[in-house]
This record gives sequence, C-alpha cells and structure tokens, in this order.
Amino acid sequence: MRIWAVANQKGGVGKTTSVVTLGGLLAERGKRVLVADLDPHGSLTSWFGYDPDTIAHSVFDLFQHEGKVPDGLPAQLITDTGCPGMSLLPASTALATLERRMVGVEGMGLIISRALAQLWDDFDYVLLDNTPSLGVLMVNALAATQHLVIPVQTEFLAIKGLERMLHTLQMVMRSQKNQLAYTIVPTLFDRRTQASVKSLNMLRKTYPDTLWRFAIPVDTKFRDASQSGQVPSALDAETHGVRAYRRLLDDLLEQTGGAGER
Ligand code: ADP
Ligand code: MG
Repeated sequence: MRIWAVANQKGGVGKTTSVVTLGGLLAERGKRVLVADLDPHGSLTSWFGYDPDTIAHSVFDLFQHEGKVPDGLPAQLITDTGCPGMSLLPASTALATLERRMVGVEGMGLIISRALAQLWDDFDYVLLDNTPSLGVLMVNALAATQHLVIPVQTEFLAIKGLERMLHTLQMVMRSQKNQLAYTIVPTLFDRRTQASVKSLNMLRKTYPDTLWRFAIPVDTKFRDASQSGQVPSALDAETHGVRAYRRLLDDLLEQTGGAGER
C-alpha cells in the first residue's frame, strides 16, 4: 500500500480536486484506492454526495479512544462512491473540535498512520486530503504519508503560502525525525495571463528540484465536476486538465517507484 498526502496551508489551490482526480485515475487503472478526507470542511466527502454535517461514521471516530486506534476501521469506510475501485473515508464537521481535545494526548499524531496500517492488504493507494491549517490532522497526514503532493496556485499570493507550507514541513520533519519526499504541483495555470506565466517561471527558478515539470491548467470541467459530484476522469477522459493529471500521475508513480505497476 502506498500513501500520498495532498497538502498546502492555503485553501482553493486544488488539493481536493487533485485527490479526487488522481484517485479516479488510479482506480481507472485497476488500483484499489482509498481517498481520506482529513478536512473538517468535508469538501471531499461532499464531492461524493455525503453530508459531513450528518454523517454517522467518519475519521472523527478514530480519534475517540485516547490516542489508541479502534479495531474495525472498515465500519467507517464508504465503498459506494459511484467510482468503482475507489472508497472514501469521510470527514464530519465534528473534526473541527479535535484540535482542542487532542492537545497533549499521547500518540495523537499517529492515529491515521496506525489506522491505515489495518488496511494494508485492502488498498493499493491511499490519498489523504488535508485542511489548510496546521494542526493535529495535518500532523497525522504528514506522519502517515510516504510522499507529499503540494498543489500551488500559479499566482503570487499562493507562492507566499507555499513558503509557509515548506517551513511547516521542515518543522514537522524535524520533530518526527524523518525525511519526506515531496512534489510541488503548479495548479490553475492560465497561460493567457501574465500572473500565471510569471509565477510559474518564478516557481521554476526557486524550486528547480521539487517542482513538477508541467502545470495543471485551468479547466472548467473540474468546477462542473465538483458541483455534480462526478469524478473527472470518468466524466471526460480527454479534457486538457485530466490529461495533465494523467501526466502528473505517471511522474508521481515514476518518482515513488510504482511505475512498473502501471
Ligand atoms: P482546495 O481543496 O485546495 O481548497 P479545491 O480542489 O477545492 O481546492 O479547488 C478550489 C476550487 O477551484 C473548486 O471550485 C474547484 O472546482 C476549482 N478547481 C480546482 N482545480 C481546478 C482547475 N484545474 N481548473 C478549474 N477549476 C479548478
Ligand atoms: Mg479542499
């Protein structure tokens, strides 16, 4: 099982879209995929038509046992996602209360990683969607993941947010004493605008080793898809946005040693 997290401390940069699309593309290739919603807003959960305000079981359940992980994680999993091969570990809005309650609880940063260990034989890929704020949930994601994908919108303000994210990452890696490989992915790229082109060039100059070689373009299909709850790859394989994500997936597989499984 391979675990990838998609994170950035800025909202609206394409994290959830990346999780859904990469997940859909992996499932399309016959992989058993779990997408997990670690964002109290529950956008990923809503994408699949479930309501994070009323959902009975969610990621939240995993944090109810004083830092220990309950058995029987499959009870929280939703297999009826409308996308064959893709399951969902949903969020509930109650997750927003975690921060306050988990302070100082031993093992609280390893809940997700321990919970996923129970599913080692059930999935080929797990994609973790994250909230934009650094807290218990993101710390859990960074501890659990083997590779981090950092989407960054091609505009100047977003690049500032990226610096903050990389700083956070350094901090967390130091405290967890591990090194985490990551890929910065330029998103919402519009080659007709100066702002997009300039900020992509700046990203290339500043992060030559960790920046993905292409960019995810603006593609209205993604906005439409998030509103109708359809996984974009299933929606239309030929949009330029989906093609870009396919290329990203190939590169990520190459980079993380999964290319041979294609
Ligand atoms: P985040 O999870 O980082 O907050 P989302 O994935 O929810 O970001 O994306 C924010 C908004 O931008 C959503 O409305 C989404 O549909 C839209 N969006 C994301 N990626 C693209 C894209 N490549 N082209 C057009 N719209 C996009
Ligand atoms: Mg999101």
